[in-house]
Amino acid sequence: MIKKDIQYFKERLEKEKKILEDELKTVGQKKGGKTATWEATSGGMEVDTADENEVADKLEELEENGLILEQLEKQLTEVRAALERIANDTYGKCEISGEPIERERLEAIPSATTCIKHMK
Ligand SMILES: [Zn+2]
Repeated sequence: MIKKDIQYFKERLEKEKKILEDELKTVGQKKGGKTATWEATSGGMEVDTADENEVADKLEELEENGLILEQLEKQLTEVRAALERIANDTYGKCEISGEPIERERLEAIPSATTCIKHMK
C-alpha cells in the first residue's frame, strides 16, 4: 500500500477512535489508569432518594449501557489494533492469507483484518 493511502486510512481510523471514545463517555466511565477498561454508568443514580420504579429503570438503563459499552469497546479495540498495524507496517494485509485486503473492503471497514474471501 502506498504511503498516501496508509495516511488516508490512518486518519479515518483516528477519527473513528475519537468518535468511539466520545460515545463510550456517554454510556460509561473509564476506570483505572492507562490500560483503562470501561464501566457502564446510568447517569447518576441516588439510591437514597430513588423510588423502586426509578431504581428498576436505572438498572435497565445500566444493563443496556453495558451492552452498548461492550460493542463500543470491541470496536475500539479493533481500531486500536489497526492503528498498531499501521505503525508496524503490516496494515492492509489479510491475517489469514497475507494477501492485500481489497480497497473497497478497507473503505467500508478500515479496521478489517481479513480480505473479503476470508471474512467471517
Ligand atoms: Zn485472505
